[in-house]
Amino acid sequence: MILTRFARVSKSTLVYLSKKDFTNRLATLCMKYMLSKNKIPPKITFTKKLLEGKPVELSYNFSSGIAFQMKFTEKSLEGKNPKEFFEKLISTSDRDFLKIDEERRWKIEYAPNGRSLCKKCKRQIREKEIRLGELQREKNLLVQQFYHFKCFDWSKQKGILIHGINDLSELDQQKVKKKIKPKAE
Ligand SMILES: [Zn+2]
Repeated sequence: MILTRFARVSKSTLVYLSKKDFTNRLATLCMKYMLSKNKIPPKITFTKKLLEGKPVELSYNFSSGIAFQMKFTEKSLEGKNPKEFFEKLISTSDRDFLKIDEERRWKIEYAPNGRSLCKKCKRQIREKEIRLGELQREKNLLVQQFYHFKCFDWSKQKGILIHGINDLSELDQQKVKKKIKPKAE
């Protein structure tokens, strides 16, 4: 289990923030960036389709596999329509926000609920069962697809370390490492 704490530096001391406060600060910084530069900030991905009358959700992805979900509403965008604002921003941005680097393509975790379906067998992934996540591009979105441990095509992996592996139990980590590395070395 890895514990992460968030803090900001204030007059050379660390002020600890909750994840929520940290996310709010990030959202403010992103807003400033978007309004001044007219493009999508680095490490940002869209996780849901842009819908009329709904807040727009963005994810800020640290390379360590930690992600922050930010919501932008008409209020936080100073009265601008969220869907229109982001559609315009997407059209003037380079397409960097759609790039999937190998180090954040994969993740592994215990399913936090039983709501996901396996991409391969189309069956439910039960709560607390190990699931593999793969980031895939869908139009202007990066979406996470999930697989059962046994349904995942491990040959895709080619020795790349998967995010989240250190949060698994020792036994499960061994199970995964056996799959990643070929037996005969
Ligand atoms: Zn499956």
